[in-house]
Amino acid sequence: MISLSQRSQSVTPSSTLAITAKINALIADGVDVVKFGAGEPDFDTPDYIKYAAIEALNAGFTKYTPVPGTPELREAITEKFKRDNGLSYEPAEVIVSCGAKHTIYNIFQAICDPGDEVIFAAPYWVSYPEQVKLAGAVPRVIETTPAQNFCMAPDQVEAAITPKTKAILVNSPSNPTGTTYDLDTLKAIADLAVKHQVYLISDEIYEALLYDGATHQSPASFNEETKAITFVVNGMSKAYSMTGWRIGYTAGPEDAVSAMSRIQSHSTSNPTSIAQKAAVVALNEPQDAVEEMRKAFEERRDVICQRFDEIEGISYARPQGAFYIFPDFSAHYGRTLGGNKVKNSMDMTDYLLNSAGVGVVPGDGFGADNHLRLSFATSLEEINRGLDRIKKALQ
Ligand code: PMP
Ligand code: GLU
Repeated sequence: MISLSQRSQSVTPSSTLAITAKINALIADGVDVVKFGAGEPDFDTPDYIKYAAIEALNAGFTKYTPVPGTPELREAITEKFKRDNGLSYEPAEVIVSCGAKHTIYNIFQAICDPGDEVIFAAPYWVSYPEQVKLAGAVPRVIETTPAQNFCMAPDQVEAAITPKTKAILVNSPSNPTGTTYDLDTLKAIADLAVKHQVYLISDEIYEALLYDGATHQSPASFNEETKAITFVVNGMSKAYSMTGWRIGYTAGPEDAVSAMSRIQSHSTSNPTSIAQKAAVVALNEPQDAVEEMRKAFEERRDVICQRFDEIEGISYARPQGAFYIFPDFSAHYGRTLGGNKVKNSMDMTDYLLNSAGVGVVPGDGFGADNHLRLSFATSLEEINRGLDRIKKALQ
């Protein structure tokens, strides 16, 4: 029997994408399911962005581009960093990849040797530990609680740093919790990265989706020492509702970005040519469409929180950004629901899907089995319909 690589056997599939596929298959079979699964905006990509891609197609912009992205797009990205983050980068410090997922994958491939450690918080986005492991490195996961808003405390980070530490990763606003770091905590963590000379990876993909008047500050903007060791990761998926276009990017130390480009030159080459043209327009044009979507998400956040408040035995940290809520369902574990004993987040997910027609993602894959993740990137009607069902299912 020919064996597969150990690498491929040890990697787990993305639970967010797996559950989304399962929910969509049920819906295709005619089952009525309220979808809180996929972490993607429900809005269509704005028309002016789509037209840019259509124009690019018609103009024959259908060939290979430079591996790290077109000069035009990297220029637009440096302008974005200036405008939104007060950061000054040269295009050579920027690389465009096939989604921010691919960007982060390339970062770990570029910086990690076998046995190196990468520090990040649990609950974490499902792909972080797997991507770290695919680079031969070791995830150093810091457990966080709702009381700390699911953010790593600087003393927890300091205690986790070893001579093997290669990077600290922060994700604010966070997937799956929607919580954000306060500035002092973020500064203290950035200072630790500088002091110990490890990279800081700042996943800012939900930067544009902040609520209650909150503003975002990238740690790279704290000072030059921090900027010199930081990768600022962002992308088009969430802010512009462009998940399928697969455009993500990072700015970071030039030698590391150049290493990422070498790696990318042997895997995907450039990201899709016409998607890059669309990204230029998305970044350069007025950001009204982004703000409109942000407002809609904020209203949905308010409604979903209010609806969870009505359900006994569920607690959550109020999301301050992104479009996720990560409630603790563990008070209902141990119950027999739908004829089966519910022991964990997977059982609760199955119960809600099969008996109540509600699709959620189990907390297990995010390193927090007491929780379920719901994406509220869906209409208010669907949120209310889904929460009616959850309430009834837990009575
Ligand atoms: N980081 C986080 C925290 C995410 O939730 C996502 C969305 N899947 C990504 C990165 C990657 O997004 P994309 O590859 O669509 O740009
Ligand atoms: N980030 C989204 C989510 O967490 C999309 C799926 C994925 O790439 O994991 O649901």
